[in-house]
Amino acid sequence: MWWSLKSFPLLFRMSSIFSKIVKGEIPSYKIAETNDYYAFLDINPLAKGHTLVIPKKEVDYLFDLKDDEYAGLQLFAKKVALAIKEVIPCTRIGVAVIGLEVPHAHIHLVPINGMGDLNFANPKLIIDAAEMKLISENIAKAFQNYL
Ligand code: 5GP
Repeated sequence: MWWSLKSFPLLFRMSSIFSKIVKGEIPSYKIAETNDYYAFLDINPLAKGHTLVIPKKEVDYLFDLKDDEYAGLQLFAKKVALAIKEVIPCTRIGVAVIGLEVPHAHIHLVPINGMGDLNFANPKLIIDAAEMKLISENIAKAFQNYL
């Protein structure tokens, strides 16, 4: 038989929500994109400018990425973080990997002013669509400085 029980889940696995975002099937406040990576605003942000950076390739666990894919993602995240810092007044861009909700590797980049700002148990901000759009456009513009 050309397929085995082991391949069954792969054949019928649905795209992750982030793959749908990459394909444009679900809208996102896009910040930057390369052939391999994509950055967009988190829909439930801890802070204004809270961004998710992902590989387009659908891999669940960040540390299952191949070395070159992982290194490329981190370098992309660095440029995005520098761009966020230009736009959002903050002390640092905090970096976190959680991955308990969406099974598609991603790095959180969160503008912070203190350690408590990177606590994912904090209440999320409600930011209207117009402001989310403006934030993403401004960060996307700043990102052009790091190409
Ligand atoms: P984690 O998997 O790291 O625990 O959390 C996933 C993150 O993805 C959460 O911060 C959540 O707000 C964000 N998220 C989940 N679904 C969507 C979505 O459809 N669009 C966007 N922009 N962010 C999402």
